[in-house]
Amino acid sequence: MKLVFATNNLNKLAEVQKMLPNSIELLSLKDINCFDDIEETATTLDANAKIKANYITKKFELNCFADDTGLEVESLNGQPGVYSARYAGEPSNSENNMQKLLKALDGHKNRKAQFRTSICLNLNGNQFLFNGICKGEILTQKEGEEGFGYDPIFKPNGFNKSFAQMTSEEKNTISHRGIAIKKLVEFLKSIN
Ligand code: IMP
Repeated sequence: MKLVFATNNLNKLAEVQKMLPNSIELLSLKDINCFDDIEETATTLDANAKIKANYITKKFELNCFADDTGLEVESLNGQPGVYSARYAGEPSNSENNMQKLLKALDGHKNRKAQFRTSICLNLNGNQFLFNGICKGEILTQKEGEEGFGYDPIFKPNGFNKSFAQMTSEEKNTISHRGIAIKKLVEFLKSIN
């Protein structure tokens, strides 16, 4: 079965393909010649994942899944959440986003936060949602060089280091995206 992963990130694609049986062939957006800018206009992660998956399924008539991730900070009422990529404005800039978040939390005792990933799967006319959460806290300054996005200022619970101080393997086993992907993979295996 061919299944589109609505992403242009080939690392993400390879990571998920490795977890799937050979009978499921993942295709990237480039593989299906989709170069459209799919606008994420919704106000929730679930709805944005649905927009992306539905766009591909409708236009290309293919089974597809799409993901959307946000960082939800408790004392900021869940912000930046669905706006995580463009928190400090467009174009998206991780350094500016982190600085804005550190400033917003200046003086706050409660630094609890969670990453949340939503995955929407369109399969043979049915739709399924999978969620992954990783709880932790926002550090007071950047630590580590690995990863991307908010990794240097996010410390997952149960660890004494930031996401940016972990190897990608270590991060994948506990991360929001890793958890959501595992749920998706288990589901696909169970019906295969
Ligand atoms: P996306 O939906 O995967 O594109 O994620 C949206 C935004 O959330 C990204 O631009 C990053 O700023 C942030 N983000 C998503 N996943 C992670 C992560 O694993 N670590 C740090 N930041 C992330």
